[in-house]
Order: sequence, then structure tokens, then C-alpha cells
Amino acid sequence: MTSIPDDYDRTAAFAKVAINQLEALRQPATPRNYEIWYHYATGYNASLNAVINDRLARFGSLSNAEVDRIHAEFFAPARLGDQLGSIGSKVISKIDQIMAVIDAAVGSTSRHKESLADMSDQLGHAENGTEIKAILTGLIQTVKEMEDSNRALELRLGDSKAEIAKLQQSLDEVRSESLTDPLTTLANRKCFDDAFARLVEQAHLRDEALSLILTDIDHFKRFNDTYGHLTGDQVLRLVALSVKQNVKGQDLAARYGGEEFAVLLPDTTLRAALTVADHIRRAVMSKELMKRSTRELLGRLTISCGVATLHPDDTVQSLIERADACLYAAKHNGRNQVVCETDPEISPVVEMQIA
Ligand code: GH3
Ligand code: MG
Ligand code: MG
Repeated sequence: MTSIPDDYDRTAAFAKVAINQLEALRQPATPRNYEIWYHYATGYNASLNAVINDRLARFGSLSNAEVDRIHAEFFAPARLGDQLGSIGSKVISKIDQIMAVIDAAVGSTSRHKESLADMSDQLGHAENGTEIKAILTGLIQTVKEMEDSNRALELRLGDSKAEIAKLQQSLDEVRSESLTDPLTTLANRKCFDDAFARLVEQAHLRDEALSLILTDIDHFKRFNDTYGHLTGDQVLRLVALSVKQNVKGQDLAARYGGEEFAVLLPDTTLRAALTVADHIRRAVMSKELMKRSTRELLGRLTISCGVATLHPDDTVQSLIERADACLYAAKHNGRNQVVCETDPEISPVVEMQIA
């Protein structure tokens, strides 16, 4: 169901943990300190939490210098804008360097060309062996200089190539970070929206199938209310894993909203997508949930799924609306089930939703 996720409870729970930490360590509640502890509370960044836990275990607190260092390491560079800005200025400075190398190479080539022309002219007027010998010595010297400057050029271009490859890798990392949901590591909503538009266009052009599964965890609010949002987040990761483990090839699994997931299945019929959705549903309900820290058993969760497939006159919006209508029907029919748009039992419901 594409309702707005209930972010208030979840974020308020993180904020409380952050404030408690600031109080316990008697740290000033500045935005920077709060930012660190808020992220710590979410647990999204495992290496941040590992660094902090290690410091706390060893020293019982964090010094100001330590806070500065952690902030610089995990937050300043973590801002995509900053990262892109820094990569961008490195690319510009690399291009400037390469242009300077090329300018120098062009300059030395034309100098060498001039001196070669000069020598060829002198050779034409040489009157004895001594003069010819002197010209040949100059010629050998010029060729040697040309070799040296070519070698230096090769070296500098080789270095630049390696640095550009590194910058390319950084850009790829930033790009993939900007398209990934940090909690579940599935594709995020932006990635899903981009891929969806592209795949709908491609499927229409090639006259290929494209199916869509929307899933929503059943009674997840109740689960959060009972066990807390932090445990809820861990469970979200587990559900995401069940989604990930049951899709393959060119299928794209994404976190569509708070506790909603979507799977795009190119070149896949409705029937095959229905089978995938049912595998995901079974995988989720087969897991007996246990809180790692206390080994408390938390029971099982279920999910509901809606499945629809692209029609010739479909847009992104109309396809998603039909899958959402099926999901609504699955919830309405009692949850823990997959509803597919052509299922005769629910088609009246679906038609009603589409209209
Ligand atoms: P239904 O079976 O009708 O789907 O019931 P529901 O309680 O799951 O209802 P709904 O889908 O509307 O509820 C969404 C809940 O999911 C609200 C919020 O507590 C929880 N939620 C959304 N995003 C997150 C998240 O990122 N982490 C956690 N822990 N909970 C989230
Ligand atoms: Mg929901
Ligand atoms: Mg739900």
C-alpha cells in the first residue's frame, strides 16, 4: 500500500536514544554531536557504531578530538554533495594537468621540428666532413631529446590514467550509494523510479513482458509498538533479505517505502511473477524471529503482495495502480497472501480499484 510511512514514531525513537547518549556522556547537544548519536541510534552505519563502541569500551567516553575525528571521517565525506564536489574539483585539476602536459608536448614537438628543419637546411650547405659531423651530432642530440620527452610524456599520461581510473571508481561508489537504501541495501526509491520508467519504455518498444510485485508487511505497526522501532528495523533487513534471495537475473528489488518493497521483473509473465511473489511470502513467514541481544522469540511476520503485468496501453502510473489495487485486495482478503490481477476471485475488486 502506498501510504506515507509512519516516520514520526521511528525517528522519534532514534532521537530519544541520541539525547540519552548525549546526556549519559555529558556532551553538549550541538547539531554535530546530535548527528553522530542519531546515526549511531539507527545502526545503519555498522562501521560508525563499531568505532564508537570500541572507544566507549576502552575509554568510557569520547573526547572532543575523537568526536571531531569521527565526524570528519563518517559525516563530512558522507555527504554526497561534498563527495561529488571533491571528485569534481579533482577531475578539473587532473584535466588541467593533462592539458599542461599536452601543451608542453606540443611545444617540444614544434621546437624539435624546427631544429630538424634547421639541420636539414644546414646539411644542404655543409662543405666538409667536420661540418657534417657537427650537424649529425646535433641531430642525434635532438632525437635523444625527443625520446626523453616522449618517455616523460608517457609516464605522466600513465600516472594521470591511473588517477582518473581512481576518480572513476569513486564516482561509481558515490553513484551506487545514492541509489541504495542504507538500511536494507536494496535499491532505493529513486533507483526504482528510474529503472521502472526505463523498463516500461523498453518493454513497450520490444513488445516484451514486464511484471511488478508490490509487498507490504502485515501489521508492522503493531510489531514496532510491541518490540520497538530498532527491532523493527532489524526485521526490515530480514524481510529485505527474503526479497533479495528470491529474485534473480535482471529483476530489480527495491525498498519502495517504509515497510514496502517492490520487485520489477522484466521479460516475466504474470504467472511467473506470481510464483516469485509467493516464494517471497513463504520465505518471510518461514522465519521464526528472535531478538539477537536477548534471544527473545518474537514470533513470525507475514507479508501481502500484489502482482500486475504491463498492458499495451499502460503507463508507469497505471501499472503501479493495478499492483497497488491487488495489494489492497490481499490486505482486504485477510493478509499473508498474493493477489494477482487476473485472479478470477479478485478481479471484480481489482476492476473496481482501477476504474
Ligand atoms: P497492514 O497490515 O495494513 O499493512 O498494517 P501495518 O501496521 O503494517 O500498516 P502500515 O503498512 O500502514 O504501517 C506502516 C508501519 O510501518 C508504520 C511504521 O510503524 C512502520 N514503519 C515504516 N517504516 C519503517 C522503518 O523504516 N522502520 C521501522 N521499524 N518501521 C517502519
Ligand atoms: Mg505500509
Ligand atoms: Mg504494512
